[in-house]
Amino acid sequence: MWIRVMRERYGGDGLGERRWPAINARTSSLCKGIFAEIPEVGKAIGWELGSGTSIHFWLDRWCGEERLGDIAPDIMRLAINSKGTVDQFFQREEGAGLWSIPLSRARLTEAEAGQYVRMMAQVERYVVCPDRADRIIWRPTSAGEYVVKRGYAWWRERRMGTSPSYPKFKQVWKPKMPLKIKVFMWLLFQGRLLTKAYRSKWVANEPTTCALCDAAPETIDHLFCECIFVQQFWREVGQRTGLSTQFQNLEELWVAGRELERARQTGMTKEKSQVIVPAAAWTIWRARNEVIFRGATAYVENMRDMFGRLVRDWETCIAGGPLPRARE
Ligand SMILES: [Zn+2]
Repeated sequence: MWIRVMRERYGGDGLGERRWPAINARTSSLCKGIFAEIPEVGKAIGWELGSGTSIHFWLDRWCGEERLGDIAPDIMRLAINSKGTVDQFFQREEGAGLWSIPLSRARLTEAEAGQYVRMMAQVERYVVCPDRADRIIWRPTSAGEYVVKRGYAWWRERRMGTSPSYPKFKQVWKPKMPLKIKVFMWLLFQGRLLTKAYRSKWVANEPTTCALCDAAPETIDHLFCECIFVQQFWREVGQRTGLSTQFQNLEELWVAGRELERARQTGMTKEKSQVIVPAAAWTIWRARNEVIFRGATAYVENMRDMFGRLVRDWETCIAGGPLPRARE
């Protein structure tokens, strides 16, 4: 019956390999109702992410073959928002795109962290596009086995990066600091932050110059390591913490952070040494976003102050206090 309805409604000519026209999610509640009633059809339905407002973050198929609720059931249970749509988990003001999944508990077990990483590896290949509608995609095969494939080729071009190499940087999950910052650090060391150079891969005519120095393309290595402006800030951080500032790329920054943890100044706890690089990196990212999105001017002094505040905040939580919210 639903086939007939679909045919009448959309003028399709059969259920073979031919693709049905994509259905606009907003205007097809009838079809959605039909889909919902037929379980095997439900399995065939995927979503092509647009604005994300029609897609259930955990229970719809929108970022790969699997549903996030299946990849990360424990994380779904821990999530403050376990019923939300995709757009509710995407923060545009955080530098044009940062996925944020607030959890009711920040300290994750090994198993939970594993689920989180697998889930984020799927999610962060996608970006929400507010001005495009979500679309239902589906393709039943002749054998009656339903798969969701359509749209993948299209998305593959837009995928940000290749397969995750997270074991190496698994350490980012260890320090005691807000989960939001852990995700940020993870994206950073995966090379997957949405820098301008990164965005320019799929956004045509995107200006790519670094907003802080205006002198070079804003790649991740540039923004966090090479930028002349940022290097001034790193020197301040180095003077205060003993962090070696000789690094020239992310890999070396990572090593410098580990080295600081190993050979830390007297009086600095191991836990504190672990949050130095994250606090500094987050400060750089925030300063950069302020310039790009609010037209602010970046000053090393302000960054130094913000860095100090973050470390103090996180120290409180290291000492057993409540976990502070990430500051603006
Ligand atoms: Zn720069």
